[in-house]
Amino acid sequence: MNKLKIAIQKSGRLSDDSVKLFKECGIKFEVGKSKLKSTSRNFPADFLFLRDDDIPGYVEDGVADLGIVGKNVLVEYGNDVESIKELGFSKCRLSLAVPREVEYPGVEYFQGKSIATSYPNLLGQYLKGKGVDAHVHQISGSVEIAPGIGLAEGVCDIVSTGGTLLSNGLKEVETIFKSEAVLIANNKLSDEKKELLEKLLFRINAVQTAQNHKYVLLNAPNDKLQQIIELMPGMRSPTITPLAQEGWSSIHSVIKESDFWENIETLRKWGAEGILVIPIEKMIS
Ligand code: ATP
Ligand code: ZN
Repeated sequence: MNKLKIAIQKSGRLSDDSVKLFKECGIKFEVGKSKLKSTSRNFPADFLFLRDDDIPGYVEDGVADLGIVGKNVLVEYGNDVESIKELGFSKCRLSLAVPREVEYPGVEYFQGKSIATSYPNLLGQYLKGKGVDAHVHQISGSVEIAPGIGLAEGVCDIVSTGGTLLSNGLKEVETIFKSEAVLIANNKLSDEKKELLEKLLFRINAVQTAQNHKYVLLNAPNDKLQQIIELMPGMRSPTITPLAQEGWSSIHSVIKESDFWENIETLRKWGAEGILVIPIEKMIS
């Protein structure tokens, strides 16, 4: 029988959200500290729990059919795999940082200096693009301590809040790459596996669309109904139900999370009241 082999990070900053994504897609499997592999009970898939750095290579070789990895790792290693979908979690950036006391003039500061990083390729490409010639010192971890111990004059490292840099006496001066988790696939999936991937993508899309939308219920005076329908057209059109009180209706619709606050204020201005906003679990349009 055909099954998808899906590689996810065993333990780290991608793990919890990767597991959550498949659970939200209704795919059940067990996760345990000592587990290397787990078979889903209700979807034809085996999950492999690996170090994130190994995932692009395994997907390229076909040991795994699919994988979830940070875009930073994918681009750094440059494996020959297909990037299928951005997943919206584990968002971070790769940045250059220098000791706090440095008066930073611009990227030319790094000319002739040494920079410690775990991302020599991404950094090398960036510096080349800027015409800066620096010595790139590759180290595999704890990059942020390099200036403090005299190993390098700057660092190029993953940042999300900047707290780690700050606590090591560094300041962020350039963002060179923006990353988030991505779903990758082997380039030569069989037709059967492609079909399973389509099934999985259909579910991922439903989960993602739902997360970007809210279900809204509200009461409004009938003379404002037309305006409100135009403001929140919903999926096909909103549901309108008359209230027991003459001249009022209840409106149910779906709005985009990103438009949420702006629309709610307009609706209140038009006399809408009793507004309820409810999260949506799955959304299939
Ligand atoms: P492994 O043991 O699997 O090799 P690791 O220590 O190399 O793990 P993590 O720190 O778990 O890796 O980071 C995995 C990925 O998560 C990174 O490649 C990056 O895409 C993303 N990431 C890293 N740091 C952050 C952060 N602070 N916030 C959000 N995402 C991050
Ligand atoms: Zn790693």
